[in-house]
Amino acid sequence: MCDTAAITAALARWYDASARVLPWRTTPHERMRGIRPDPYRVWLSEIMLQQTTVAAVRGYFLRFTERWPTVADLAAAQDAEVMAEWAGLGYYARARNLIACARAVVAAGGAFPSERAALLALPGIGPYTAAAIASIAFDRPETVVDGNVERVVARLFAHEDPLPRAKPALTRLAATLTPHDRPGEHAQAMMDLGATICTPRAPLCGLCPVAGFCAAHARGLAAELPRKAPKPEKPLRKGLAYVCLRSDGAALLETRPPRGLLGGMLGWPGTPWSDATPRPAPPVPGDWRACPGVVRHTFTHFHLELQVLALRWSGMQPPCPGTFHEGFDPRALPTVMRKCWELAAPVLEADPRLR
Ligand code: SF4
Repeated sequence: MCDTAAITAALARWYDASARVLPWRTTPHERMRGIRPDPYRVWLSEIMLQQTTVAAVRGYFLRFTERWPTVADLAAAQDAEVMAEWAGLGYYARARNLIACARAVVAAGGAFPSERAALLALPGIGPYTAAAIASIAFDRPETVVDGNVERVVARLFAHEDPLPRAKPALTRLAATLTPHDRPGEHAQAMMDLGATICTPRAPLCGLCPVAGFCAAHARGLAAELPRKAPKPEKPLRKGLAYVCLRSDGAALLETRPPRGLLGGMLGWPGTPWSDATPRPAPPVPGDWRACPGVVRHTFTHFHLELQVLALRWSGMQPPCPGTFHEGFDPRALPTVMRKCWELAAPVLEADPRLR
C-alpha cells in the first residue's frame, strides 16, 4: 500500500527547500507570508509552457510582462503586436487564443475566475491549464498532470502500461497524491521533481525526496518508465518560399489565414505544402534566384522541406495578395519563415544582379 500522505509530506519539505526560481512564481519569502502568484502571470506562463520548454519560455514571458504587465494591458494590445511578440515560440493558435482570453477576462470584470469549470469556459484554456491555474494561482485541490508529472507518477507506482493509453490511469494515481493542504505548492513540487530529479533518461534517485516510496526505484525499473507506444512516422511535405525585398529594403509578406498552421502570422508568399513536388508560382514576375540548400522544419504532424527563391524587386505595389512591409524585422516572423530569410539574405546580399 502506497503511503500517499508520507509522499506528499516529503515532497512539500523538499519543495520548500529546493523550488525552482521562475519569473512567474512567488519568491520563497512571499510564499512564507502566504502570498499567492498573480493569476495573470500563472495563466500566461501556462499557455506559453504548453509543448514548450521553460528555457524557451523565460525570455518571452519577461518581454510580455514588461510590455503588458496586466491582463487589461494585454487585452488592449493590437493583435499584430501580440503576434509579432509571440513569433518564434510556435503553436500560434495559442497567441490568438491568448488575445481572445485576455479580452474575455476584461469583458467579465478583469479578474480570472478561480474555479476550474469557469476557467475551462475561457478561450484557449483546456483541462490541464484550468487545473494548473486553479491550483497554482488559487490553491484549489486540482490534480495537475503534465509530462513531468506523468513520468513521476508512472515511476512512483511502477505503472507499466504504455503512454498514451496510460494517461487516464496516471491521472487517477496522481489524484491520490493531491493534498488539501497547499495543493498549489504540491502541483509545482511534482513538476519540479520531474524537471530536475526524476528526469527522462537518467533519474537522480540518490537525490530524490521520495525514493523510499518509489516502486520503480525499488524494482530497478526507473529509467524504463514510463513506457511509450511507438509513434507513427511523420510524413514529409515540400514547398517553395519566395523571399522578395523591394529596393528600399521593404519585404513582401502575407498575413496567413487566421485559422490553421501559423494562423495570423506574417510569412513569405509560397506554394502550398504537400507531398508532391511543388510547381513554381512566383508572387511577382522577375529573375528569381534559387538559394542553396533547403529549409527543414518539423511541425507536430509532418516534416517540411522548403526551397527558397530570392528576388530584389524594383516595382512599388505587388500584383499579388501580399504587401510590402517597411522596417522589415525578421524577429517578427515565425521560426520556419525566419529560416527562409536566413537562407535568402546572403543570396540577396552577394549577387550584384539582385542589388
Ligand atoms: Fe523518480 Fe527515482 Fe524519485 Fe522514483 S526514486 S520518483 S524514479 S527520481
